[in-house]
Amino acid sequence: DSGTIAFLGLGHMGGPMAVNLANAGYTVVGFDVVPEALEAARAHGIATTATAAEAVAGAAVVLTMFPSGLHVLEAYRGTGGQPGLLQVAGPDTMFLDCSTINVDEARQAAELAVAAGHRSVDAPVSGGVVGAEAGTLTFMVGALPDDFETVRPLLEVMGKRAVHCGEHGAGQAAKICNNLILGVSMIAVSEAFVLGEKLGLTHQALFDVASAASGQCWALTTNCPVPGPVPASPANRDYQPGFAGALMAKDLRLALNALESTGVAARLGPLASEIYDTFAAEGGAGRDFSGIITDIRDKSAQ
Ligand code: NAD
Repeated sequence: DSGTIAFLGLGHMGGPMAVNLANAGYTVVGFDVVPEALEAARAHGIATTATAAEAVAGAAVVLTMFPSGLHVLEAYRGTGGQPGLLQVAGPDTMFLDCSTINVDEARQAAELAVAAGHRSVDAPVSGGVVGAEAGTLTFMVGALPDDFETVRPLLEVMGKRAVHCGEHGAGQAAKICNNLILGVSMIAVSEAFVLGEKLGLTHQALFDVASAASGQCWALTTNCPVPGPVPASPANRDYQPGFAGALMAKDLRLALNALESTGVAARLGPLASEIYDTFAAEGGAGRDFSGIITDIRDKSAQ
């Protein structure tokens, strides 16, 4: 079937994304290395296979939603006697990777795919599990122009916005640059609120000023790290994510890798990466990343 999508990686994000494609009428064949993920997909009406190779043989699109770039490269190339997916796929297959991975790994994956006679798109997402379920993700896309047009209808089913950022790797680049801004700005907003507390300023007063002034940013006006001013922010539900600390730590590690490999004279990026690594290691992994404010408060002089 020339229209089949092999969907590999049916986890928190991939599971609901695959369901949305199937509900939109696409023929989806799913595979995951974890049996529970396969069962959950089948319960939602997704056909599954016993091996990745079976899902990929005959598919027009191979969509991957994996934890890391190593998983992507190993799947493409093959490991431990397993044939690589690039080898198993029919000629001119579209390899669409939606995982968040290193920019260098995304470029390498694209090079391998193109060298094997295939097409390659990197399209990491923002919007989280809620966005995956609702089909409202934002895709940041690195692709040749024709390839972007090929995958655009699929992205429009799984998301509400797809931004073509440039050629191979540009999607990952945009994602980590955005999250570098987000990670640093959340720390700045949190430090400002704790300083305000020390200076006797109410949360609402600081919010009212900064949200309509030059301190305005998403970390303040949408994901406000203190309860009260923005009722829907995770701070109002004891920092239930939202965007988990483990994922922010991961994304900043990818940003750090890129800062180092490009030689940017960055200081806040590496520091933010270290701060979220500590946050995640000390109990913040499963909390919203805005919970960083409680760390700052707890570590401040009493
Ligand atoms: P997850 O761990 O829930 O899902 C990943 C799935 O891939 C797992 O089920 C795993 O078994 C499977 N897998 C790994 N190697 C495989 C292989 N070779 N073949 C088949 N399946 C394989 O992770 P997730 O939360 O769904 O995140 C997926 C990606 O999306 C990550 O790169 C993450 O950084 C990114 N992301 C996640 C969120 C979020 O809120 N969870 C938001 C934006 C981006």
